[in-house]
Amino acid sequence: MEIAENILLKDFTTFRTGGPARYFCRVQSVEDLKEAVNYAREQSLPFFVLGGGSNVLAYDEGFHGLVIKMEIAGVGFSLLANGRWRAIAGGGENWDDFVSLTVDRNLAGLENLSLIPGTVGAAPIQNIAAYGRDVRDTISSVEAFDTNTFSKKIFSNEQCQFGYRKSFFQTSDGKKFIIIGVAFDLLSEGEIKADYKDLKEYFSKHNIISPSVNDVRHAVIAIRSEKLPSISEYGTAGSFFKNPIVHESLAESLKMRYPNMPMYKEGNGKMKLLAGWIIDHICGFRGMNDGNVGSYKNQALVLVNRGGASSKDVIKFVEKIERNVFENTGILLEREVQMLS
Ligand code: NAP
Repeated sequence: MEIAENILLKDFTTFRTGGPARYFCRVQSVEDLKEAVNYAREQSLPFFVLGGGSNVLAYDEGFHGLVIKMEIAGVGFSLLANGRWRAIAGGGENWDDFVSLTVDRNLAGLENLSLIPGTVGAAPIQNIAAYGRDVRDTISSVEAFDTNTFSKKIFSNEQCQFGYRKSFFQTSDGKKFIIIGVAFDLLSEGEIKADYKDLKEYFSKHNIISPSVNDVRHAVIAIRSEKLPSISEYGTAGSFFKNPIVHESLAESLKMRYPNMPMYKEGNGKMKLLAGWIIDHICGFRGMNDGNVGSYKNQALVLVNRGGASSKDVIKFVEKIERNVFENTGILLEREVQMLS
């Protein structure tokens, strides 16, 4: 395995920003991974595992450690005794290519998550979700490499501690694990979830009465392509912030000031507010640009590099949004996009 030097991170992140990684390698097996982590340990360097680079922002100064590009590949399907199909995919597989393979086999469960950029290994970390389906609904286990003991460990769905856009792998204990593979127990066509508002509208418009797995995938691709920027056109990492989950009392006081503000019950006295709605309707940032950085015209939560922006420009715009949201609502937005550090 080759360890390259001074590799520009803007070529490996979908935001298309970021300076050089001092060291950079691609891992295609657990043996490569051991070698990479060992190299970082011996040189006393920090390391950062990069998947598709679609949820990270790299500093313009770059990263002084080792960037490990996860490229462990392989997809296999097996029939379980309970009649369900299990798919096991390597952590470095492209997420949407994998989803497409499951849909080709008429297996349900992942079609709502079509066209999400990134890798299979990144999917459990923030429990990716879209159009009414969370990836935790189908994950049966996650295989991870322990960077302290250099051994492999299997996490059951429960051990992954999935929550709204979160998992055990984001905690300080979880960060010592690198995901090398994920097993999914896929569902039958009868278990398709097609009741998300945008999907229902799409099927009604196209006169599709009982959508197939393939119909849902096509609908999601069409809806996303219409609403979200194409990463071939803009630099972007999708939604920049998480939806805030706040105490009901704060939600109620905001509702008095902003009667149209959408909010959803989360249980335990908590409400989910919509970061995109707040940034758009309260702060007025949707479609606004600051130099080459902007909030996307069709979805305020998605920030875009319109070409030539630096990470510093992105952070300046992000902080402006955060300040404005805080001043207007008292809410400190949590970033979904991770800094590469
Ligand atoms: P949308 O459908 O306009 O919905 C906006 C927000 O409202 C979403 O965050 C969604 O929550 C929430 N929401 C809608 N109906 C809901 C319900 N019945 N109960 C609870 N919450 C509800 O959003 P969009 O921008 O077009 O996105 C469509 C889907 O793709 C959403 O699921 C969104 O999360 C996902 N997405 C994710 C990213 C990303 O980068 N992470 C980017 C774009 C879109 P949920 O987020 O819980 O669904």
